[in-house]
Amino acid sequence: MQDSVTARYVIAGGGTAGWMSAAALSRFAPPGTQITLVESEAIGTVGVGEATIPQIHLFNSALGLDEAEFLKETRGSFKLGIEFDGWQREGESYMHAFGDIGRPLGLLPFQHYWLRAKQLGFAKPLQRYSLNELAARTMRMQRGKTAAGREMPYAYHFDAGLYAAYLRRYAEANGVNRIEGKIANVKQNGESGDISALELEGGEKIEGDFFIDCTGFRALLIDGALGAGFEDWSNFLPCNRAMAVPCEGGGDFTPYTRAIASKAGWQWRIPLQHRIGNGLVYCSDYCSDDEARETLLANLDGAPQAEPRPIRFTTGKRRVHWKNNCLAIGLSAGFMEPMESTSIHMIQSAISRFMALLPQGRAEPATIDWFNAQSTFEWERIRDFLVLHYTANQRHGEPFWDLVRSMELPATLTAKIEQWRASGFIHREHEELFTEVAWFQVFAGQGVEADSYNPIANALPEADLRALLNDTEVALVEQVQPMPRHLDFLQSYVNGAART
Ligand code: FAD
Repeated sequence: MQDSVTARYVIAGGGTAGWMSAAALSRFAPPGTQITLVESEAIGTVGVGEATIPQIHLFNSALGLDEAEFLKETRGSFKLGIEFDGWQREGESYMHAFGDIGRPLGLLPFQHYWLRAKQLGFAKPLQRYSLNELAARTMRMQRGKTAAGREMPYAYHFDAGLYAAYLRRYAEANGVNRIEGKIANVKQNGESGDISALELEGGEKIEGDFFIDCTGFRALLIDGALGAGFEDWSNFLPCNRAMAVPCEGGGDFTPYTRAIASKAGWQWRIPLQHRIGNGLVYCSDYCSDDEARETLLANLDGAPQAEPRPIRFTTGKRRVHWKNNCLAIGLSAGFMEPMESTSIHMIQSAISRFMALLPQGRAEPATIDWFNAQSTFEWERIRDFLVLHYTANQRHGEPFWDLVRSMELPATLTAKIEQWRASGFIHREHEELFTEVAWFQVFAGQGVEADSYNPIANALPEADLRALLNDTEVALVEQVQPMPRHLDFLQSYVNGAART
């Protein structure tokens, strides 16, 4: 190692994961850190991944990105939630909207009051008590506080390729060295098994102290070289294919992602400034690739802009994400279908866990174990949340949906469903990504009934409960009505007029 260089990080792969990692390291690693990224234009990237969750703000603002510039560069739009269309049964839809539902009331979360009102027969659908859903359904968007002082948490839809390109410019400006080339061999130290270098086709060697595997589904380092192994979750989430195609804009410019249930899976719809991203996620046992292509093309709002592109995957995760001096981030770490837009978030959370440790080479075993335990916890709880959408369907008589309704559940999910059913209580462990409010919306939306609620909710006189729900509803309508339309707001924001 040269005297002035304190640590050499080598990032293998330049998709969203690679460039997010490079950007974060270039921003936060101490002076003297050498960061190299190798990618191959000939191999390319997975080219999908356009919907996010609100946590992305933390990442972008940690980098100091200007939001309007970011939206302009990535042709992005705003996102207030995800609509699940037909997941309980055909013709019904609900939303997992970001942010709170109802109003906080004393000791109890809102769900208990809503469950009580439901038993009394006057609870309205959750939409009426959610600022985000009300705004989303009426195609409105606003940043900052409403007249009543509330904020709408939001995320983005963006072109993932443009996001990676934007972060590449950022990282290169901060000193990241990008090397174009195909990794042909991963060199390891004989005794420890640690990775010592990546050897490119043509023989060039890139040496490093720590390696970040962002090679996508190939997982060249973490699995190819280090044999981390794979935990297959197809028994919980059996979809294994996607067919993706962008189309021309059309229909509503929704400030939300749509996930539309289909015969053997579901279709996403993600509106960007210049196009709509679409894709069908499906299970190959119940739908052929030809049928998937036809279904996808038959359900577009505008003319397709390319040939539909097939993607194969197996749901699950590497047994460990960190092994020796290598960390897998992105698709190399594993994959779960994007119905809740979680993959980019998992990239971000892996980066932030890593930055909290920032090893200068091989880390202590306890550090590696901690990291892997945290990742496993995060991934398993997200998996449970995804499985809930499937298991609670009422699409009887459709073979794929019958299968996913009857599949064995992870024990952690069974426990959550049982608690909810018995008492309306939602148990969320400290570091879980999805909040009680998120679970509440999916329980309610999928028709998973709670038989009871916390009796403390009975302390509120019935007339006060009615007034509470009614006032909440009226107040939300008043806050949403003056908001601009999503498209108008986006255009003026990106062009500078609506910036605060
Ligand atoms: P990739 O984009 O595949 O990048 C891999 C990189 O490694 C490329 O640069 C490639 O050139 C390089 N590489 C590979 N092999 C070599 C080699 N031998 N030599 C040199 N370089 C090499 N996420 C969300 O958050 N929201 C979504 O809505 C969403 N939708 C998705 C839909 C589908 C169908 C799929 C499959 C994924 C989706 N994701 C989504 C996940 C998201 O796309 C990924 O998490 C994200 O793009 C990161 O991908 P990546 O960088 O790990 O891999």
